[in-house]
Amino acid sequence: MVFDGRSLLPDLDPKRITIATYCSHTSLQIFHGARKEGFRTLGICVGEPPRYFEGFPLGRPDEFLVLKDHADLFNHVEELRRRNVVLVPHGSFVEYLGANRFLDLPLVTFGNRNVLPWESDRGRSKQWLDKAGLQLPRHITDPRDIIEPVIVKYHGAKGGRGFFIARNYHEFKSRIDETKPYTIQEFVLGTRYYLHYFYSPLRGDAYRLSKGSLQFLGVDRRDETNIDEANRLGSIAELEAIGIKPTFVVSGNFPMVIRESLLPKVFRMGEGVVETSMPLFGGMIGPFCLETVVTDQLEFKVFEISARIVAGTNPYVGGSPYTEMIEPGLSTGRRIAQEIRLAAETGRLAEITS
Ligand code: AMP
Repeated sequence: MVFDGRSLLPDLDPKRITIATYCSHTSLQIFHGARKEGFRTLGICVGEPPRYFEGFPLGRPDEFLVLKDHADLFNHVEELRRRNVVLVPHGSFVEYLGANRFLDLPLVTFGNRNVLPWESDRGRSKQWLDKAGLQLPRHITDPRDIIEPVIVKYHGAKGGRGFFIARNYHEFKSRIDETKPYTIQEFVLGTRYYLHYFYSPLRGDAYRLSKGSLQFLGVDRRDETNIDEANRLGSIAELEAIGIKPTFVVSGNFPMVIRESLLPKVFRMGEGVVETSMPLFGGMIGPFCLETVVTDQLEFKVFEISARIVAGTNPYVGGSPYTEMIEPGLSTGRRIAQEIRLAAETGRLAEITS
C-alpha cells in the first residue's frame, strides 16, 4: 500500500513549513532555494552532519536530523511531523531509502510518489513514454538479433554502473552476467542532452497545458567516467583489446544550451509526458528530466526519465540561460520552494504533495 501523505495535511501548519531532504545529491541547491523563499530547512543525514556543508553557508540547512541509518528515518516520523516538515525527494534520497520504503513513508512529500513504479520499471516507463509520443531507442528482445551497437542495462543499476556496449551477439555473450535481469537497447549515436522541466498544476504563467503549465529550466550533459575520456588512450576497440572496458558512471555535469530551433520539440515532449501522466497515475508534478540523444537528423530519442530533481540542475544554483528569461537567479531547488509556498498560501498543498 502506498502511503498518502495528503492525509497528514490537516495537521500541517502551512505558515510554519520546514523543507527537509537528505544531505546529498541536490540538497545544497534545495536548501539554498528554500532559504531564498523564506523557509526553515532541515538536513537529514546518517552518522554525523557532512562537513562539506561548513563550506557553503548559504546552502547549509538551519538544522540537522542525524540518523543511525537510512531506515531510522521511520523512527523520527513523529518528530518530523511536529516540525511541520515537507520532504523533498531527490534521486539519492529514494535510492538510499529504497523505493518501497519511500512509498510507505508516512510524511508529507513534495510531488506525486505514485510516479515511482512508472519510472523505475523499464517496461512501465516505456509504456508511459510511448503513450506520450516520444521516440525511444529500439528495444532488442533476443540478443541473437544484435546486428548494430547496443547498450545493455542491468535493471536497477544506478549511475550506469555495469552497463556495457556490444556490437554483436558474440560480444554480448562474452560480457553478459546472465544471473541479473537486463534490457538491451539500440545504442543511439548522437549528442546527449538531459532536459530539465518543471510542471506546475497551480500556475498558468508558462507553457500552458490542459491544467497548469510547464517550464523548461535548463539542460546539462553528464560527464561519465570512463567513457567520456577513454578516447585519449585509443579507440574503444583498442582499449577493449587490452582489457579496459568503457563505463558510464556519472562524476559531474556540464551546463549546456540547445539549438533554439529544437525548443518546440523540447516543449512538446514535456507536454506529452505530463498530459499522459495524469490518467496513468494522477500526474507528474514538479521537476523531471528527459535523458535524450539528438541524432544527426535532429530527432530526439529518449532513453530514460527521472521523475524528480536531477543532479544535472546543480550547475544552475544561480540560474540558467533559460531561467534568466523566466526569473533571474531561479534554480530548480528554488522553483520547488516557490511551488510549496504558493500552494501553502492558497490552500492547495493537496495538489502538489503525496
Ligand atoms: P541511464 O542509466 O539509462 O541514464 O544510462 C547511463 C548512460 O548510458 C547515459 O547517461 C548515456 O551516456 C548512456 N546511454 C544510455 N542509454 C543509451 C542509448 N540508448 N544510447 C546511447 N547511450 C546511452
